[in-house]
Amino acid sequence: MEQWKKDAIAHAKECKPEESCGILAIKNNQTIYYKCKNVADELKTESFIIEPIQYADIEDETDEIVGIVHSHPQNILVFSDADIYSCNSIDLPFYLVSPDSDKIETLLPNKIDAKKN
Ligand SMILES: [Zn+2]
Repeated sequence: MEQWKKDAIAHAKECKPEESCGILAIKNNQTIYYKCKNVADELKTESFIIEPIQYADIEDETDEIVGIVHSHPQNILVFSDADIYSCNSIDLPFYLVSPDSDKIETLLPNKIDAKKN
């Protein structure tokens, strides 16, 4: 398994029962998982908001942000409607992990609800 995947799953374990969130970025030709703080005001067990200053810092110090990672602590590897909405509005691939599984689900922007547009 790639290192970023291991790091993302380890972070999901640390954050349980809250959702973990992080950014996947390329730096010096390496794909790196950056742990981020979940600043959702409520329902951190079912939602996430990446701390905006952290996001800006990672954007500055890496070559390119290539994805957003979050966890579903209940181990249900299905993207929610809110996840699909966020994925399309941020326009980056979304990766979903869970604390107790090695599986990672991927969601690409504008695939699932393209028919609504
Ligand atoms: Zn989610």
